[in-house]
Amino acid sequence: MSDLFYKTAGELSGLLVKREISSWDLTQAVIERTKAVETKVNAFLSYNEAAALKQAKNSDERIARGESRGPLEGIPVGLKDIIAVNGEQLSCGSKILEKFNSPYDATSAINLKNAGAVLWGRLNMDEFAMGSSTENSAYQVTSNPWDIERIPGGSSGGSAASVAAGEAILSIGSDTGGSIRQPASFCGVVGLKPTYGLISRYGLVAYASSLDQIGPFARSVEDVAILLQAIASHDRLDSTSIKVDIPDYRTVLKQEDRRWKLGVPTEYFSDGLDKEVGVAIENAIKFFENNGCEIVNVSLPHTELAVPVYYIIATAEASSNLARYDGIRYSHRSDRAIDSIDLYFKSRAEGFGEEVKRRIILGTYVLSSGYYDAYYLRAQKVRTLIRQDFIKSFEKVDALLTPTSPTVAFKIGERSEDPLSMYLSDIYTISLNLAGLPGISVPCGFNSDKMPIGLQVIGKPYCEAEILAIAHKFERSHDFYKEHPKL
Ligand code: GLN
Repeated sequence: MSDLFYKTAGELSGLLVKREISSWDLTQAVIERTKAVETKVNAFLSYNEAAALKQAKNSDERIARGESRGPLEGIPVGLKDIIAVNGEQLSCGSKILEKFNSPYDATSAINLKNAGAVLWGRLNMDEFAMGSSTENSAYQVTSNPWDIERIPGGSSGGSAASVAAGEAILSIGSDTGGSIRQPASFCGVVGLKPTYGLISRYGLVAYASSLDQIGPFARSVEDVAILLQAIASHDRLDSTSIKVDIPDYRTVLKQEDRRWKLGVPTEYFSDGLDKEVGVAIENAIKFFENNGCEIVNVSLPHTELAVPVYYIIATAEASSNLARYDGIRYSHRSDRAIDSIDLYFKSRAEGFGEEVKRRIILGTYVLSSGYYDAYYLRAQKVRTLIRQDFIKSFEKVDALLTPTSPTVAFKIGERSEDPLSMYLSDIYTISLNLAGLPGISVPCGFNSDKMPIGLQVIGKPYCEAEILAIAHKFERSHDFYKEHPKL
C-alpha cells in the first residue's frame, strides 16, 4: 500500500484492526520516509529504529490476540524532546542536557504506551521551548517542509514538521505561549493547546509552569481528538491537573448542524496582520456565516498587553525553574571551574544558549527586590484583566475565531537578530496561555507562495470538544488537509 505515512491515524487504525496492514509495516514505512526526507527537514534530534519496531511488533501481537488498546494501537507518535521517556535522551534542545537520559516516564508518555502507540523519536525544539522558529535549538535548525528555506515555527518545530512531512503520523509538543498552534499553522497541520490542567505536566520539563501545557499535532482534526483522548487524564503527580469529565472527543466531533455563535475579536485584525493571512481568515469566517453560524464582533481590550505581560511572567518563572541546572545535579559540568561558585557560573555560561540567558536575566530582574511590584506583580494583575476580557466575551459567544499567527512562516535567519519581531509572531496565541484557555489551529488556506495559513478557534475552559467540532466542520468542507508538501 503506497504512502502509508500520509494516512491519518483514523484511517490506519481501521486497517490495522482488520489486519490489512501491520504496525510493523506502518512503522517501517515511517522509518523509510524519515530516512528519505530528514536530510532536508531535520525534525529529529534522534530516533531508534529497533526500539520502534519492537513496539510495533508488540502491537501486532496484541491485535492478533484481539487485545487492541484502541485507535492509537500500533501508530507511530513522535515526542518533543522536552517530554520524558524512561531511558531516552531528554535534551530540551539544550547543550546543558546533552548527555542526560530520563530516569522515568512522563504521565503523557505512560498514557501513550497504555494506548498502544509506538513512541517514535525525539523531536527538535527551541532550547527549553524558548522561541518561535526552532532556530534556538542548540543542535540544528529544522526546516519547514513546504519550503525548506523557511522555519517551521516553534518552539515545537520538530513536532509540526515531522507530521507535515510524513515522518510521524502524530506527535506531541508543548505550548507556553503558542508553541503548538504557531508551528501547526506554519506547517499546515492541526495543533491543539488544551485548557491549563487538562493534561498532566508530570515529566514535561518546566519552562513557565503557570503557562505550560502538552498537546497534540496531527494532519486531521479527528486525529487530534484521538490523541487528546489518550493523553488527557487526571494525575496525582501534577498538583495543577484538574479532575473533569472527559467526553469521547471523537464522537462529539460530529456536531455539523449546530448553529454556533462565533465571536471575532476586533483587536486581532489590526496593523500587523499580513494581507493574505487576513483574507484567508475572513474567508473562513464567511464560511461559518454561510453555514448556519452567527458571527458576532467582540472586543478583547487588553490584547496589546499580552506580549509584554507574557515576557514578564514567563521569564520570571523560567529564571526560577532553570536554577536547577547548576552543573551538579544534571548533565553539563564545566571542567574549568576553580571552586564551587565558579562551577555554577561556568557550567551555566557554557551550557545555556543566548536566548535562554537573555530570559534568565530578564526574569531575575523582574523578580528582584525593588522591581517585583513594578513588573511581576503588575503583570499578574494585567493577566487577570486579560482573562476577564475572554470570560466577558464568552457570555455572548460559544467560541472565538482568529488568525493563529499574523504572518506565514518566515525565512530562516530573517528574525533571529531581532528578538522583538520574533516575540510578536505569538501575538494571537499568548493570551490563551495567560488565560488558561484551549485553542486549536486548523489549516485554512495558502498564500501566494503556497505557504500554509492557520485559523485559531478559542474555546471556554474545558470546551475542547466544542473547538474540535468547530474546526472539524471547517476542515471537512475544505480540501487543505489533503494536500502535502512536495519534498
Ligand atoms: N514563542 C514563545 C516564547 O518564546 C512561546 C514559546 C512556547 O510556547 N513554548 O516564549
